[in-house]
Amino acid sequence: MEPFRTIIEPFRIKSVEPFALSTREHRQECLEKAGFNLFALHAADVMIDLLTDSGTGAMSAEQWAAMMRGDESYAGSPSFYRFEAAVKELFPFRHVIPTHQGRAAEKILFSVIGGTGKTIPNNTHFDTTRANVEFTGAEAVDCLIPEGRVASSTHPFKGNMDLVALDRLVADRGRQNVPAVFVTVTNNSGGGQPVSLENLRGVRAICDRHRVPLFLDGCRFAENAWFIHEREPGQSGRKVRDIVRELGSLFDGMTMSAKKDGLSNIGGWLAVNDDELARKCRNLLILTEGFPTYGGLAGRDLEAIAQGLREVVQHDYLRYRISSTGYLGEALTRLGVPVVQPIGGHAVYLDARALLPQVPPLEYPGQALAVELYLEGGVRGCEIGTVMFGRQRDGTEKPAAMDLVRLALPRRTYTQSHVDYVIEVVDRVAQRAGKLRGLCIASEPPALRHFSATFTPA
Ligand SMILES: *Cc1c(COP(=O)(O)O)cnc(C)c1O
Repeated sequence: MEPFRTIIEPFRIKSVEPFALSTREHRQECLEKAGFNLFALHAADVMIDLLTDSGTGAMSAEQWAAMMRGDESYAGSPSFYRFEAAVKELFPFRHVIPTHQGRAAEKILFSVIGGTGKTIPNNTHFDTTRANVEFTGAEAVDCLIPEGRVASSTHPFKGNMDLVALDRLVADRGRQNVPAVFVTVTNNSGGGQPVSLENLRGVRAICDRHRVPLFLDGCRFAENAWFIHEREPGQSGRKVRDIVRELGSLFDGMTMSAKKDGLSNIGGWLAVNDDELARKCRNLLILTEGFPTYGGLAGRDLEAIAQGLREVVQHDYLRYRISSTGYLGEALTRLGVPVVQPIGGHAVYLDARALLPQVPPLEYPGQALAVELYLEGGVRGCEIGTVMFGRQRDGTEKPAAMDLVRLALPRRTYTQSHVDYVIEVVDRVAQRAGKLRGLCIASEPPALRHFSATFTPA
């Protein structure tokens, strides 16, 4: 029998969160007040918020029920032990250390293993990961396969590590200067592209040969495992849970943001096998996050994560999740909107430079497109381009490699008709894309300007 074409959300709605259907005039006013920076909007003035998939998902009835069981004991809370057991069920590391989010785990780990003269390879460092590595004086080096950098390449595992480049890098720097190799699944900064099990085994072999520990940035482990299930030869008969366990078994430790595949609104963890490393990390944890059985989280947050981890590996959920992202990307592709291919797990990336060829990169085509999507239909995306990356350390400005607008899908939050609406909004804007103008920056802070810069129409 043919499978159904409709993506059926494998949940029904128990509690609704109404949003106001705003007018174009109202949105124009909001934009002007916000200096045409979508980060400065009040979220209540956004209809469909695709700014990020981080911490923005909906929790299940079981997660809300688990929260009521949250035990707020300072030390040794049963909620911690339930959290730890749920993590170890998928990732059997000896030490599981909760943190308030992923970057806190990074900060602690790199404070211990980083430092001047050290090098951390990764397929692609996420921006907080890179910042935390560099903050210690260490160097963050990306070793992504060349296909991963080509927007039009349809390689099934565009997040794969370049094994030859990795091997050469570790040999060059010397094992004593490479305290860990990292792999990010899925590759967030590279468009949510997956890494294959075969590639991970190759990375493991290189780490074994050089005797260097291997760490996982596991934020989207379940989405990555679903891609392995769907695309990697010999994997389609396996349960995602078992793929995740095998994936996890290749690593010596991990950092995690539970705001992604933890299906939670806050939280994260650091996990390691090494006892001495765990001891040092826990000592730092106590300084900045809290006692090792809560790590900056409430007991109820730990419960929500524990339950989220059971739900995120369910096949019906993952099929719906990945096909919803694909549905948005494929519909836009059919309409002729330039979109980064293949469609990743958590977001669709519009190629603003291709869609707005009349806007030069230094007039921010990505920002112009993101602003127009908001004006047209109250849809908030995120510029990933020259506004975000254009300002150089020496104060000059140059175009980023690409000017994209990311439409990130929160988990279990919007329905197919919301996505249909987004498709219509993007289509309408694309129809008149040739007439859109760029923006000039009116003011900007010294660093991370995308969060608070203000703009005026060019
Ligand atoms: C979100 C994210 C992080 C950081 O996690 P936070 O919870 O936002 O601090 C690290 N790595 C990747 C790949 C991410 O997507």
